[in-house]
Amino acid sequence: MKAEILAVGTEILLGDIVNTNAQYISKRLADIGIYVYNQSVVGDNPNRLKKSYETAFERCNLVITTGGLGPTKDDITKEIAFDYFNKKSILNEKALKNIETYFKKTNKKMAESNKKQAFFPKDSLIIPNFNGTAPGCIIEEKNKILIMLPGPPKEMIPMFEESVIPFLKKFQDGILISKVLRLSGIGESSAAELIDDILSNQTNPTIAPYAKEGEVIFRITAKAKSEKEAEKLIEPMKKELIKRFGNNIYGEGETNLQTEVCKLLIEKNLTIATAESCTGGLLTSKLIEFPGVSKCLLEGIVTYSNTSKIKRLEVKKETLDKFGAVSAETACEMAKGIAKTSNSDIGISTTGIAGPDGHTKENPVGLVFLGLYINGTLKTKKLNLTGDRNKIRRRATIMALNWLRKEIMYI
Ligand code: ATP
Ligand code: MG
Repeated sequence: MKAEILAVGTEILLGDIVNTNAQYISKRLADIGIYVYNQSVVGDNPNRLKKSYETAFERCNLVITTGGLGPTKDDITKEIAFDYFNKKSILNEKALKNIETYFKKTNKKMAESNKKQAFFPKDSLIIPNFNGTAPGCIIEEKNKILIMLPGPPKEMIPMFEESVIPFLKKFQDGILISKVLRLSGIGESSAAELIDDILSNQTNPTIAPYAKEGEVIFRITAKAKSEKEAEKLIEPMKKELIKRFGNNIYGEGETNLQTEVCKLLIEKNLTIATAESCTGGLLTSKLIEFPGVSKCLLEGIVTYSNTSKIKRLEVKKETLDKFGAVSAETACEMAKGIAKTSNSDIGISTTGIAGPDGHTKENPVGLVFLGLYINGTLKTKKLNLTGDRNKIRRRATIMALNWLRKEIMYI
């Protein structure tokens, strides 16, 4: 298979941005044994883009584009490709739903123009995008494969790792096996830094670190003649990563933080109750995503006002008066109160300033306290988060889950 990477965007031609996408994709294709014969760049111009498709498919049979999948008129990568293949595009309901969900999640208003991003030919394969709006897509036609990905690397890379690599596996000689390790409580760049020596010398297996929805993912990929041999190559690398990242690795494969937390609670026969202020039920809702949660979750309440904190959780009025609702002291009393009133082993609480209003100099937007009552002891954690209201709520929820996981691991 001969591959060409076609970066679309006038910004690249002007030298305003560096074509790191081509570098990333070239490297990863080499890792899995696909030869890149050409890299090219074209501006956002319909005629020249169409010509680029023609030229690329004259010399290669796999073309991967990045960029130009946005909602505006100058984002034309898809439209010209459909024209090149002579395919009609129609509104894909599932893709539209995903775009709508993304807007809801990020608290932004969806424009009518975003609908354009959900148009695809009937027989194309759609690549979901969890870090942005533009879905990607794969078109297979006779001997030609076109894969289109969005421009921003933080969107392109997860899509490439999670959808494109598995798709390209079928064009491999030999076997390609990937194992995924999931990390929480560490940022993408710090995680990559800690394995810089491995990343700059890797051959087989390879590790691709990337961030997705508030977590860091390490995808370890090995090429071998058999599955067993590939797994044998992966195993020592996995061990090394576990050695370096310890309990920041929360899971392996298709899982998520809430699943791992609930599994631990059930395994250890522990019950939990939640008292939420700024997260407003998000934490409880995350736990409830796990189907067997009734075995460990007793109760979850949103105590938003001071009165409610006093009435439902027995938080002392003096504590609220002296330290305020957003304080370590209140978080602790909330956690203890919910554990006591619901008779659970663990009580967890959140209280903070999600913004945009309600902040002071001492209590800025993003200041969140978590409280944990566990095994008869009280613990608290102070977070300084950034972002808009919903991002702060989501981040606080993830951090509460991860903290809880680390605390119950060793019980
Ligand atoms: P959007 O929906 O954000 O407009 P898009 O798929 O239309 O995404 P572009 O508009 O082409 O992509 O590019 C958006 C941004 O993505 C650029 O400003 C740049 O930061 C980044 N980007 C685009 N192409 C590349 C590339 N080849 N290498 C690295 N970064 C890129
Ligand atoms: Mg764009």
